Amino acid sequence: MDALLRELLAAPGIAGYEDRVRDLIAERLPAGVARTTDSMGNLIASLGAAAPGASDASSSSTSNGVMFVAHMDEIGFVISDVRDDGYLSLRPLGGIDPRTVYGRALRVITTTGEVMGVIGVKPPHLMTDRAREMAEVPPIAEMLVDVGARSGEEAASLGIAVLDFAVLKKDPVVLHNDLWSARALDDRVGCYILLRALERLEAHTFSRPVHFAFSVQEEIGLRGASRLARAFDLDYAFAVDSVSTADWPGVSRALSGAVVGAGAALRVLDNATVIPPAFRREIATVAEREEIPLQVVFTGGGTDAKPFQAEGPQVMSLAIPMRYTHAAVELVSGRDVEHVIRLVVALARHYAA
Ligand SMILES: [Zn+2]
Repeated sequence: MDALLRELLAAPGIAGYEDRVRDLIAERLPAGVARTTDSMGNLIASLGAAAPGASDASSSSTSNGVMFVAHMDEIGFVISDVRDDGYLSLRPLGGIDPRTVYGRALRVITTTGEVMGVIGVKPPHLMTDRAREMAEVPPIAEMLVDVGARSGEEAASLGIAVLDFAVLKKDPVVLHNDLWSARALDDRVGCYILLRALERLEAHTFSRPVHFAFSVQEEIGLRGASRLARAFDLDYAFAVDSVSTADWPGVSRALSGAVVGAGAALRVLDNATVIPPAFRREIATVAEREEIPLQVVFTGGGTDAKPFQAEGPQVMSLAIPMRYTHAAVELVSGRDVEHVIRLVVALARHYAA
């Protein structure tokens, strides 16, 4: 796991609060690449285009663009109450499993800085009915964050206010077989892939615009991508995001065909999108020519591909197989990541040559 990905993972940014992630990505974009930010906060870097975002009504359909999109936001929490006793309440933003949150450390991001907190759990020592109490996880709205403050005023004096946001503390680890694990790999690994692909494509000449979009508010309903889908004239839109695998003991393979370490994944069926087989075969031919290992998979959930499909372009999710999606230990293969970078590069060259 290299320094750029670690930086992207460390930057906190939930839906609607992506500014730190966006600033970091803008800084890491190759210097000469044109970029723009729309009013919602989507960041778009463009190659082979004049003005990014300009959809020239007089241009023929053959000059319509190609877009690759990865979302900047991660699942997290908004501070919903600063209590008189100094504890904080949380409102989750995105699909968060309370089991992955209970008893963990949090970073509270305030307007003035950052404050650490922990979500307390009643110890076995104080339980009166262990079997029952140990099996129970409260809803997130009932969990309390301890930031060390003894009163609401003391919490406020640390800079904490309602509507600040929080994310779990992130501790990236590298496992055997070049497996990487960390919170927020969904979808900072997609942002990383776009940045690396841009570096490889920067010097290339394209006959049509190729856009690399870093979208907002994916985790709460693909909202940033919906705006992008309406704003750009595209023939092709590719979401670069994770695909949840069921390749570990105790989970039925009938839930997902994706396998970590088996190559870049084309996510052709999920809860949001179905991709007709002809387009899948076309992409497979490009991957085969470049000798990129490819798996064609189905899974649950949805990606930023969905809102684009409704607006006309052919769409596909170019996916990084991921175990334990949305947990603090999301896990991907470094080799798969490289394969997806190569696939993005190959498809940009193929569809915008
Ligand atoms: Zn997600």
